[in-house]
Amino acid sequence: MSATPILLSPPDLRGGEREAVAAAVESGWLAPIGPDLTAFEGELAEVCGTAHAVGLSSGTAGLHLALHAHGIGAGDDVLVATFTFAATANAVVYTGARPVFVDADPASWCLDAGLVAAELDARAARNQLPRAVIAVDLYGVGPDYARLEERCRHHGVLLVEDAAEAIGSTFDARPAGSFGDIGVLSFNGNKLITTSGGGAVVVDDGALAARIRSLSTQARQPVAHYEHEEIGFNYRLSNVLAALGRAQLSTLAERIADRQATRAFYAELLGGIPGVALNPIPPGQVPNSWLTCVVIEPDAAPFSAAALIAALDGDGIESRPLWKPMHLQPVFADAPRVGGDVSARLFRTGVTLPSNPRQPDFHARVRRAVERLARS
Ligand SMILES: *Cc1c(COP(=O)(O)O)cnc(C)c1O
Repeated sequence: MSATPILLSPPDLRGGEREAVAAAVESGWLAPIGPDLTAFEGELAEVCGTAHAVGLSSGTAGLHLALHAHGIGAGDDVLVATFTFAATANAVVYTGARPVFVDADPASWCLDAGLVAAELDARAARNQLPRAVIAVDLYGVGPDYARLEERCRHHGVLLVEDAAEAIGSTFDARPAGSFGDIGVLSFNGNKLITTSGGGAVVVDDGALAARIRSLSTQARQPVAHYEHEEIGFNYRLSNVLAALGRAQLSTLAERIADRQATRAFYAELLGGIPGVALNPIPPGQVPNSWLTCVVIEPDAAPFSAAALIAALDGDGIESRPLWKPMHLQPVFADAPRVGGDVSARLFRTGVTLPSNPRQPDFHARVRRAVERLARS
């Protein structure tokens, strides 16, 4: 076992982060909001092609407020991509609404727009429309938004884009975060841009941005004393963390180039092996390639997904299975589901590969481990 482990997606510093945080601290803007937060929000809106951004304490908080601000709660259904991280579905449960899990599209691994369209049409006929649909830009790739936006608009259903994994991706030349009615970003430690913990919503609607900003700061009314007309949350991003985020964001293009080069490295290393394929990129998309994944067909490939994970682990290299679909999670055993077994099969056959190449001997060590396995 080598000395330093290679991790899946560790954060890295390259944009003057230390200086930026120190300057924010020295400026005295420790009290939560301040100029770096305002500037970070402007920069995020620009990257996402939206009119507004609101900095929050996590992506999960962003998903929660996106639903809460639209009055979604007990008695409502929300269609959710089953192939995602638990945070997407948890946010639905926080509101009191019920998640209904929809399977993945093999062309993108994201929410299957055909299944969503059929479900919305069928529910409209029985007067049981869900209040919202949450699509997820999985590993930086997006679903068929043209179809999702058309059907959601037709039925008057809110469309939320969980873009936690997709900052800087473009789908048909439109930036991730700008699809549907509201987008959500995450700056968790393993994401492309980190504030060590944080998130944001990105929206065009200025009144909605203002309402989410208010809800994130305990919904205090704009008067001298503390006046509250509704229940608020303590979900705002701090000014010091926004300074860290601005420094990270200043090198977004380099970070994406690194991840895309890593995908090319895996395409060369694994692409020639029968039964092994990288995660798909639909036509018209330029994903940030946050994480590169492979699926390994048990009957066709010389080794299994489990064998690849074990071989990498033996050399101190972290990899792991793909997201376990929410409809297979014990905690969501009672939730309704729509569709087949695309995501379940991906979970059985897929591997998430280490994707931040800024780690010592990254390429040589990964190559050695894979080549040793392929020969065995
Ligand atoms: C990371 C992630 C989130 C949650 O973001 P946090 O900032 O960790 O709360 C939500 N959805 C997806 C798909 C994610 O990958």
